[in-house]
Amino acid sequence: IPHLSDYLTPTGNHTSGGDQTVVTLPSLRNPIDSNPFYRPSSTFYISPYEVILSSILFDTNNPNPSSNSDVTHDVRVASPIAYHRAGPRRIINFDPNKVRAAIVTCGGLCPGSNTVIRELVVGLNELYGVKEIYGIPMGYRGFYTADPIRLDPRTVHDWHKKGGTMLTTTRGGFDLQKIVDAIVKHGYNQLYVIGGDGTMRGALDIYKELKRRKLNICITGVPKTVDNDIGIIDRSFGFDTAVEVAQQAINAAHTEAESAVNGIGLVKLMGRSTGHIAHHATLSSRDVDCCLIPELTFYLYGKGGLFEFIDQRLKQKGHVVIVVAEGAGQDIIAHSGKQEKDPSGNPLFADIGTYLKKELKNWWDQTHPGDQFTVKYIDPTYMIRAVAANASDNLYCTLLAHSAIHGVMAGYTGFVSGPVNRNYGYIPLEDIAVTRNVVDTRNHTWAWVRSITTQPDFVK
Ligand code: ATP
Ligand code: MG
Repeated sequence: IPHLSDYLTPTGNHTSGGDQTVVTLPSLRNPIDSNPFYRPSSTFYISPYEVILSSILFDTNNPNPSSNSDVTHDVRVASPIAYHRAGPRRIINFDPNKVRAAIVTCGGLCPGSNTVIRELVVGLNELYGVKEIYGIPMGYRGFYTADPIRLDPRTVHDWHKKGGTMLTTTRGGFDLQKIVDAIVKHGYNQLYVIGGDGTMRGALDIYKELKRRKLNICITGVPKTVDNDIGIIDRSFGFDTAVEVAQQAINAAHTEAESAVNGIGLVKLMGRSTGHIAHHATLSSRDVDCCLIPELTFYLYGKGGLFEFIDQRLKQKGHVVIVVAEGAGQDIIAHSGKQEKDPSGNPLFADIGTYLKKELKNWWDQTHPGDQFTVKYIDPTYMIRAVAANASDNLYCTLLAHSAIHGVMAGYTGFVSGPVNRNYGYIPLEDIAVTRNVVDTRNHTWAWVRSITTQPDFVK
């Protein structure tokens, strides 16, 4: 068998021709012209030359445009980037009888992880007849510290109805050499890695090491981020479910606030670097008076600040609902000096919810001594992360898993699958690892939030 690296084009190889940039994926070439997925009457195939186009709206002031952010001023449309279209290939590059697939989940919980695992197992088995499929427990460290779990369609049949990850997950423990040694020892030749930004950077490192060692092993990432902070792709799985469950927390906060005298309902939602969940939950609810996200600079005291706004709203309607993303307002919280980190090296955030609750009480006691005032603070984070995927995320996870399987069976490696302008494509891991999808507070969807909430602009 020829070495994969003999045939590799560099990952993320962007070749420009005409008005397009075509992203070529590295791939294994060991062609087998007998895709078992083939059904003469019903199966369609994707030609390896078929591409999907990202039409990135390009901000001439911003050299790193995100495909999801439509900037409303000073724009021109950049020449689109073409990605391989996802889907089954006529020619595959793995003999299904020789596939040993490994699936791992890393990082935090996200609705839909179990659906992706289930569909990878069922899809590999039923679409291609792959029998040897293993789950790696405990995240990356599980490759070299734990026994793999043999998976088959019977084992996983109802996993899509469960929250969390049935494989278990951890942070940290990324030891590249030990991981790749373990992959070789167990004879895995297909790796499916489900995780967030850190996990995708780890997958990229593994891909590079596999290439350096000239190993015929394909790796693909399924990006998991409930925050929807990954660029290029339209949205990440679990996001839809998260917004839906967030509504329940907002409804509860609204009821609490409305039933109290001068009641404040305060809800903290996930979103460390981006406020997509808070943003969308606010848009889908009609009860939120103010939405605070990391992309927005705000202040509490003084003219045009949060507390002045709350004061006015309490006078007008007697209650206020505030939604705050966990990464918002970190600049206004006094840090104790040393920044704490989690085992993966991510900075730990100061709790903006508790901080706001305390500051609200202080402010009220000083400005309205003796008057009734209640703050009900709800942090539904673990409730949201831990639920099973809703119908739309379950469907989405299935498409992601099947796209990943078809890509790997076709021999592609170092890529992730995802919808770009609603068409599924294969995007180099390297491109995904460096992009971010942030809420653009200058665009029309944020203007929409402001018109729904009437919240201040926070301009001094
Ligand atoms: P989320 O933040 O959504 O929970 P994540 O994938 O970003 O998911 P992390 O805990 O940051 O979660 O990382 C998951 C795994 O990836 C850990 O095992 C961590 O050690 C590894 N990892 C994180 N960053 C890198 C990196 N830059 N290079 C290699 N491995 C990394
Ligand atoms: Mg992360």
